[in-house]
Amino acid sequence: MSRFMAPRYSLFDSYVPGEQPQDRQYLKLNTNESPFAPAPAVLKAITAGHMADLRLYPDPECVQLSQAIAALYQVKPEQVLCGNGSDELLSFAFMAWGQHGAAFADVTYGLYQVLCDLHGVKARRVPLRDDYTMDDRDYLGLKQLIVLANPNAPTGQALLPRQVAHIAESNPDHVVLVDEAYVDFGADSCVPLVNRHENIVVVQTMSKSRGLAGLRLGYAIGPTQLIRDLRKLKNAINPYNVDRLAQLAGLAAVGEQDHYQMQARAVMQVREHTARQLKALGFTVLPSLTNFVFAKHPAMGGEALYLALKKRGILVRYFGGERTRAFVRITIGTREQMDECLAALKEIVGGASR
Ligand SMILES: *Cc1c(COP(=O)(O)O)cnc(C)c1O
Repeated sequence: MSRFMAPRYSLFDSYVPGEQPQDRQYLKLNTNESPFAPAPAVLKAITAGHMADLRLYPDPECVQLSQAIAALYQVKPEQVLCGNGSDELLSFAFMAWGQHGAAFADVTYGLYQVLCDLHGVKARRVPLRDDYTMDDRDYLGLKQLIVLANPNAPTGQALLPRQVAHIAESNPDHVVLVDEAYVDFGADSCVPLVNRHENIVVVQTMSKSRGLAGLRLGYAIGPTQLIRDLRKLKNAINPYNVDRLAQLAGLAAVGEQDHYQMQARAVMQVREHTARQLKALGFTVLPSLTNFVFAKHPAMGGEALYLALKKRGILVRYFGGERTRAFVRITIGTREQMDECLAALKEIVGGASR
């Protein structure tokens, strides 16, 4: 850091994204991207004419896209705010509602702690249970912003909407922020709750189930008043936060719900296959409602597994930290990709236990 940087920013650690190395071709199972190309309609949504229009600013309100998202989720357009990835919306949310602190799991999405440090929000880490599940009773009456990755990452398990509703009812003067980045892979969404609870906001993304991680498009759905709070911050920080191409491709993606549901079902099937095969190799695999599995092996820690796979051209993710260092997080790709990964793991752990 230079000596010119404000101490409040120079003193904390930023989020470390999963690596995107360029030194060779890897099988990328480390950042929970989709193994599938975007839907054909999405690929066709951006024409040369649209590229020529890039001299013009985008619609700052994302009117068409917000209307389409609202129709899909059966809410009003003013209950939707689009963001430059859901990460941006999470940042606005911590700024808007974190004044009494924020509570989230001890093992969860690493960005939440970074956003607390960035925005001066006091973090309360709520330990997951011994089996790495969240327990809704741990979040009752906490009297602060509550942030639930649901399903949780990197553990893969989810609370039920009625448990989230219960948490919201017990914290009537604070917002419950539900990060549903992985909801399309088998969990129940909390979006239907936003019209019955004035303090629940859901954030989703096009990055995972819709295969558009490179587009940077997320959206928040909530009560109109809460969305208004987020919009105020958006208009202060980055009024043109969603570019023209993202609005076009996003609109096309919203129209391809059947296509993406089919892809998500394929991922879920491969996930179950992968979990079975990992268990057969001696891994412990946490139940997952996401497009990744979190697994550990008695013969080798997470870092050793990660390094051995990387040597074989396969990238997965591991996390330091007492409760996570035994594990690797493996993104679910195609059946062929997972079989390649499983074959490599068979060699690796076979060698380690001999
Ligand atoms: C991937 C992810 C996001 C962010 O996705 P964007 O690409 O910024 O939309 C948010 N929350 C969790 C838990 C994630 O895993």
